[in-house]
Amino acid sequence: DSFDAMELQPDLLRGIYAYGFEKPSAIQQRGIIPFCKGLDVIQQAQSGTGKTATFCSGVLQQLDISLVQCQALVLAPTRELAQQIEKVMRALGDYLGVKAQACVGGTSVREDQRVLQSGVHVVVGTPGRVFDLLRRQSLRADAIKMFVLDEADEMLSRGFKDQIYDIFQLLPSKVQVGVFSATMPPEALEITRKFMNKPVRILV
Ligand code: AMP
Repeated sequence: DSFDAMELQPDLLRGIYAYGFEKPSAIQQRGIIPFCKGLDVIQQAQSGTGKTATFCSGVLQQLDISLVQCQALVLAPTRELAQQIEKVMRALGDYLGVKAQACVGGTSVREDQRVLQSGVHVVVGTPGRVFDLLRRQSLRADAIKMFVLDEADEMLSRGFKDQIYDIFQLLPSKVQVGVFSATMPPEALEITRKFMNKPVRILV
């Protein structure tokens, strides 16, 4: 039960330790390795358990940094959460040289377009803005291989269901899916049934 034992890339491991983490939390112990293997993973966990670093590590481990195209898309229910995830992604991925960008409502679309044009590996956003950028093809979906829904139950209760479905339709069909949710209401289960392939379930 150490980060060392997870066979992570040395530069990712350095980022994790530099961020101040010494030992993986329970969800990290159980969740990072299956995600790194490319499996679809449902993790039922509250915030405060270390879920952000779980999916950030899984995403960072699988990026091809030499390919400066969006390879991972993370959706979150609020701007604040998306910006928080962007910070963790950048911090843990600092030594890898990751380019991560938060794309959220209430900010300049042109600025998002400028940053996306300049090249990023990871986009973290709220569903409305992300769908808008995909529709305009400012965000290209063809290299996206990982898709994470953070606080899925919260996104559904805020009425983002249709936008999440619309976004799914625009992603490559073989995309890896990670769903994080504190609770599993019927609509969240429906998402997991429709979009996930033999998901691993982790309850912490
Ligand atoms: P989260 O559940 O992702 O919102 O994380 C909750 C808090 O726990 C954040 O402040 C993290 O920085 C912290 N945290 C996450 N993983 C670890 C860890 N392995 N060691 C120490 N703190 C952690």
